[in-house]
Amino acid sequence: MLVDRSRLHIALQRSGRLSDLSRDLLRESGLRIEAGKNSLSARAANFPADLMFVRDDDIPTFVSDGACELGIVGQNVLEEFALGSNERGFDVLAELGFGQCSLRIAAPERLPYEGVQSLSGQRIATSYPRLLRRFLDERKVDAEVVQMKGAVELAPRLEIAPYICDLVSTGATLEANGLRPVETVLNSQAVLIRTRKPLDEEREAIAGQLLSRIDGVLATKE
Ligand code: ATP
Ligand code: ZN
Repeated sequence: MLVDRSRLHIALQRSGRLSDLSRDLLRESGLRIEAGKNSLSARAANFPADLMFVRDDDIPTFVSDGACELGIVGQNVLEEFALGSNERGFDVLAELGFGQCSLRIAAPERLPYEGVQSLSGQRIATSYPRLLRRFLDERKVDAEVVQMKGAVELAPRLEIAPYICDLVSTGATLEANGLRPVETVLNSQAVLIRTRKPLDEEREAIAGQLLSRIDGVLATKE
């Protein structure tokens, strides 16, 4: 089936920390969504929008390419993506007030830490190599960034790197792994983004309608 270009396409995380809250926001904005946990897409029954359930890492690409006109994604994923692309293909429309977390550098409890210079010459494992590199460059710290796709907290135990840079909300996972946060690279929350690709009049109007509903929902939460 080809994509229906008379409808709006909204990219949401399929399953993970942002999925339920993203769907809730759209529901509160009046969209009736009938989709099970295993669906890859869903049609809003009462609004000309289709939801696309994808990996969060793909959302910036889909929106920048214009495959989806709107998307909901964490600023952490978005900024990491933006640092790796020459041209910005999306605009941030709203901060959504959920999915709060921080990208933080953590050190093993046994190592003394005396500020960023303690990182110089050291290895730091992360899934956010570009954000980390920018942080280090801005502070003129020469450290080695080791990229991992996940399970970054294991890096010190496996002796891949003594330091890590990872997402933290409560800090409980760090503590459980004998680590403590020492620097904040980015504070993040979920944001609503739209493509910079021009929309036809019809879909521009649908997008405008949805945005004003979302703004309405967000205003009641302030
Ligand atoms: P996917 O399968 O979609 O790639 P994922 O494993 O990359 O999922 P999740 O762990 O579900 O992603 O996290 C999605 C987003 O939730 C993060 O990118 C971040 O913006 C936000 N988030 C909020 N709190 C945390 C936290 N404590 N740890 C990790 N992410 C968090
Ligand atoms: Zn992901």
